[in-house]
Amino acid sequence: MTDDIASRPGPAQEPSQSPAGGPILFAPATPAAFGSAPIALAPDATPLSAGPGDPTEARGGPVEGKVLILGSGPAGLTAAIYAARANLEPIVLAGSTPGGQLMITSDVENYPGFPDGIQGPELMAAFRAQAERFGSRIVDIDVDRIDFTSRPFRAWARGTEYRGDAVIVATGASALWLGLESETRLRGRGVSACATCDGFFFRGKEIAVVGGGDTALEEALFLTRFATKVHLLHRRDRLRASRIMADRAFAHPQIEVQLNTSVEEVLGESHVEGLRLRQTDTGEGREVALDGLFVAIGYKPNTDLFRDVLDVDEMGYLKVHHETGSKIEGVFIAGDVHDHRYRQAITAAGEGCKAAIDAERWLEMHAGRPATVAVAAQG
Ligand SMILES: Cc1cc2nc3c(=O)[nH]c(=O)nc-3n(C[C@H](O)[C@H](O)[C@H](O)COP(=O)(O)OP(=O)(O)OC[C@H]3O[C@@H](n4cnc5c(N)ncnc54)[C@H](O)[C@@H]3O)c2cc1C
Repeated sequence: MTDDIASRPGPAQEPSQSPAGGPILFAPATPAAFGSAPIALAPDATPLSAGPGDPTEARGGPVEGKVLILGSGPAGLTAAIYAARANLEPIVLAGSTPGGQLMITSDVENYPGFPDGIQGPELMAAFRAQAERFGSRIVDIDVDRIDFTSRPFRAWARGTEYRGDAVIVATGASALWLGLESETRLRGRGVSACATCDGFFFRGKEIAVVGGGDTALEEALFLTRFATKVHLLHRRDRLRASRIMADRAFAHPQIEVQLNTSVEEVLGESHVEGLRLRQTDTGEGREVALDGLFVAIGYKPNTDLFRDVLDVDEMGYLKVHHETGSKIEGVFIAGDVHDHRYRQAITAAGEGCKAAIDAERWLEMHAGRPATVAVAAQG
């Protein structure tokens, strides 16, 4: 193996926190790092990546492939690898966040195959290089309109029409943030939105979780495995979470629930050193010294385009039928765009694989059939 990922020059690495102490620096990643790893093309592969922007627009007319993949996170790019290797000539419409959510984190320590961890953007650059190596065409552009009423299915982005006999929707979800400049600046430097992913970095530390729903409480309870103390901050006078979760949080000796408390600022230059808080009932302000902040105020699934076309659940996530299917035959779903339970790169990648295999089998069965859409049985 000459193209060993571990030997590639990745984005500059910040030192990670040692569990014993020191600043917590786990995500200095910037989207610019995406694609920084050298892309090794197979000798006979055509470099089809359109990269940022959409040069196909200049050519005019629809751009056709057997499979359209919407999204380029772990789900979309894994689907592209499998679809390309099955000769399905996938076109990946990568969206405005090529690489997906892992582009805003750095140390990914739970993705199998990387015993020393890997930077999120470096991991996604490797996914992309692998998808391109087998001929996936990747265009870094947001789809702004779709038509799944007949085959080939159609999607438009900046005026260009893309067509595919099958579609894999892998548009993911976006974590909701408080919207503070200091929160953005210190993201990955003590500010996180994923306890499963980053909790380990806070062993022996004092941290805060913002939010009042079940997810926030789950995160807070999970984080007690690592942190010495977890401040649970909620701006209202009562938690939104279920009674059972609230009881567990209030009873936990390492969790201090602080109601009527909003975060005004995350303190620290290069890493989180504390929070400026305000009592929402009295207006009183105060500062607390802390090592980390987990924002757990929710996720927004990127499903606006599909709400009138595919089934969505009460939280706005797409509903899958029969593993990766949707209510429209030939339209498949993978990753966080429907999964609000696991929300991990490995599960999203696994679903991308499954969706591509399902698309390939479905195309095989439907090759040569008239282009009609059959609504699949609800499963
Ligand atoms: C801060 C943070 C740290 C994390 N750390 C870890 C970790 O250490 N380990 C781990 O396993 N998981 C981690 N995760 C979770 C992991 O990133 C997600 O579970 C995973 O990225 C989901 O992959 P996905 O492909 O389903 O969607 P996403 O990664 O969300 O990708 C969605 C893609 O869809 C595209 N898109 C959106 N709208 C459109 C549109 N209209 N047209 C075209 N494309 C569109 C976007 O540009 C993007 O490319 C972390 C998440 C966050 C937020």
